[in-house]
Amino acid sequence: MTKRNRKKQQGHYCKICGRYRANEKFSGKGHAQHICKDCNRELQAQKSEKKRAKQMAAEAGLPAPKHYPMTRYQAANYLGITPSAFDYRRKKLELEPCGTYEGKRGTGFLFDMATIIAVHELADGG
Ligand SMILES: [Zn+2]
Repeated sequence: MTKRNRKKQQGHYCKICGRYRANEKFSGKGHAQHICKDCNRELQAQKSEKKRAKQMAAEAGLPAPKHYPMTRYQAANYLGITPSAFDYRRKKLELEPCGTYEGKRGTGFLFDMATIIAVHELADGG
């Protein structure tokens, strides 16, 4: 399954980072998918993080998360509470967001599974 690249000097396009990169920056599979090794590593990390979140959710008796990490609205919806209740409990637990995202209404926060589960358990405990 060797495909020779006639344009040796040009490298290969990555659809994730949008760069032309040297062929050695792509794995065999990466060539076909147009994803360079660096971006692929990032994607794999995200994937395993999502998998871990799913496992944690299952252990906490929660359904598999559709989105991950979650925004405040997604997390609140996921736990069946209001966004303000989510924030209130999160602050009470002194838990920080795991990251930010750029949304339509500006920068929002993202929350990881540990935070969401902690909020969930606080809600359960009353
Ligand atoms: Zn890339």
